[in-house]
Amino acid sequence: MRVVATVQEMLDTRSNVAGSSKVGLVPTMGYLHEGHLSLVRLGRAENDVLIASIFVNPTQFGPHEDLERYPRDLPRDLHMLEAAGVDVVFTPSADEIYPPGFVTYAEPTGPLASEGESAHRPGHFRGVATVVLKLFQIVQPHRAYFGQKDAQQVVVISRMISDFNLPVALGILPTIREADGLAISSRNAYLSAEDRKVATVLYQALQAGRRAFDAKAGDGTAAVVRAMVETVTQESRAQLDYAEVRDPQSFVLLEALQAPALLVIAAKVGPTRLIDNFLLRADGSWETGVLASELKWVEEERDR
Ligand code: AMP
Repeated sequence: MRVVATVQEMLDTRSNVAGSSKVGLVPTMGYLHEGHLSLVRLGRAENDVLIASIFVNPTQFGPHEDLERYPRDLPRDLHMLEAAGVDVVFTPSADEIYPPGFVTYAEPTGPLASEGESAHRPGHFRGVATVVLKLFQIVQPHRAYFGQKDAQQVVVISRMISDFNLPVALGILPTIREADGLAISSRNAYLSAEDRKVATVLYQALQAGRRAFDAKAGDGTAAVVRAMVETVTQESRAQLDYAEVRDPQSFVLLEALQAPALLVIAAKVGPTRLIDNFLLRADGSWETGVLASELKWVEEERDR
């Protein structure tokens, strides 16, 4: 496995890959876990060359967020990626990605930029879209893999690929969870033993929301939201940021009970902010969704 720290070296490595080879990219912020590894495994199976990136992207953190204390363990991450069969790991510094003079950003507009996560983390998706666009330009993958765990991020990236005609196909993988339902996250490392028990409240709220959705109460998605809110407010150590029902393609709020629907939730458990979501589909299945499969056309275009 090659570890590459500069943009120039990554460009050189990429240009050495044969033209017919399929290249996959798994972007991460490191401190890897089973969620990341599920992306790596599919990427390994679907591509000739698999590239993972580890970059704690400063532009997606707000001024009072956890950039400095975000968990990091590069030796352990490299060991895990090598064992999973990754070919190249791109580990740039912040200066490499944002050199002096950097001024140009990619930024979503509309509900994606002002609602959901954006209402609580202004500018977050500007940082995400910018770094993902840069990674796509530098690595030039045919396919890129992301987790449904970050549902709004998936919508931002799907839209960016479509809006900018980027020749990248998206693979969106289901959320990997602990046995009690807690979505695995690098930030779970912040949870105290007590908060770790409480943290399942997000999953429980989503389950309550799903049941309300299936029960089809007369007042549309309001009953679903109520069920999620009530579940979280029963837990004194949890403080709800939002519980919403949204269209998984456009991210607009849904009032009527229509599928597919995205139940999104964010709450602080003690000092730790956690997010989770369920994708409810028209066939009654949930959560195991691949949101952006229709974007495969982009790859077909490129292969012609
Ligand atoms: P991060 O390192 O947190 O930026 O995550 C890198 C990628 O892994 C993103 O596409 C995430 O959505 C994905 N991911 C994070 N946690 C999970 C999980 N529990 N299950 C599946 N994918 C995940």
